[in-house]
Amino acid sequence: MKKFLFLFTSLTIFLSFFVLNNTEEPHYDDFQVKDTSESENNVILSKENNKTYTASLSAIGDVLIHDRVYNPAHIGNGKYNFVSHLKQVKPYLEKADITVANQESMIGGTKIGLSSYPSFNSPHEVGDALKHSGVDIVTLANNHTLDRGEDAIQSAITYWNKIGMHYTGSYVSLEDQRKIRIIEKNGIIFSFLAYTYGTNGIKIPNDKQYLVNLIDENKIKKDISSAKGISDVVVVSLHFGKEYQRLPNEEQIQLARQLALAGADIIIGHHPHVLQPMEWIKREDGRRSIVAYSLGNFFSGQTGDYKDIGGIMQIKVDKIVKNDETIITLKEPLFIPTFVDSNYYVTPLAMINGNESLYNEIKNHMKKWMPELKFSTQF
Ligand SMILES: [Zn+2]
Repeated sequence: MKKFLFLFTSLTIFLSFFVLNNTEEPHYDDFQVKDTSESENNVILSKENNKTYTASLSAIGDVLIHDRVYNPAHIGNGKYNFVSHLKQVKPYLEKADITVANQESMIGGTKIGLSSYPSFNSPHEVGDALKHSGVDIVTLANNHTLDRGEDAIQSAITYWNKIGMHYTGSYVSLEDQRKIRIIEKNGIIFSFLAYTYGTNGIKIPNDKQYLVNLIDENKIKKDISSAKGISDVVVVSLHFGKEYQRLPNEEQIQLARQLALAGADIIIGHHPHVLQPMEWIKREDGRRSIVAYSLGNFFSGQTGDYKDIGGIMQIKVDKIVKNDETIITLKEPLFIPTFVDSNYYVTPLAMINGNESLYNEIKNHMKKWMPELKFSTQF
């Protein structure tokens, strides 16, 4: 019997080895950020032999570049520079392990002609400034994605690839669309999905549906399910809601609930161009999801009536591996309100003198449904 057990165990070990080594890996290597920052500090080994991993994620709202923003940034010879516009917020964007931004205007570049509202096309150099400031991935599913057609999308994505920026929500082919974007940091894998409510009435060519992801609850749920299979944390960006409304509408609330229940861990909203509050959504699987209904404008030419106020949302993720079980916990939500001044420079609101009452108003607005939300210009 003992001999049989030994043989059986050996065979099982041999077979497991064989199976593990022959399992086909999903083809997302091209989009995986190599984990360069992992150190022993990020992995805590407890007495019970549980492993705890921690990583932080930051998100910012709309980057929507009007002519009044790009014209003064012209430095000659058709070149632009936006690096100094983000100088004051760069330290905070860089601090998080992963930062995601919503690039609302396509950066199709000067060759096809720059343009502003209502049909945007922005300089490539907007991408350089985001990359330089610590942004790791841009979401491209917006109502302005198709403003300048496929040419702008192709040119923009070629540029994002050139500078090594990850993107999601708009794609150059069906094959490109099918690859779920993932980024791994400190032993935690994040996946990124992005969708928009529409494209300002511009029809998506029938044979090129990959140009932009539209909100379709069942389709998103399927994508979430696929993303869950290859990642620890699913991040879903939604371009939705009504412009200039400071509170989410019923449609936004219901969609966020449904997607959270389907497994979306972090839901990042944008489109209203003003901030809408954050909240937790309790799930049946014991986890809780976080939703920011609208992160407002981060870097744009819109001013007044709260349209020049945005912010950096940050959340920490703990991953505890106990034997066969993996527990993901979102914790310590933080929000840094930001302000775009008359020269279109972005600054943390708390750093601008004389704005105390506005700063307090924004804090109360954002923590309306999340009293423990912290605000700081220091991580
Ligand atoms: Zn929009």
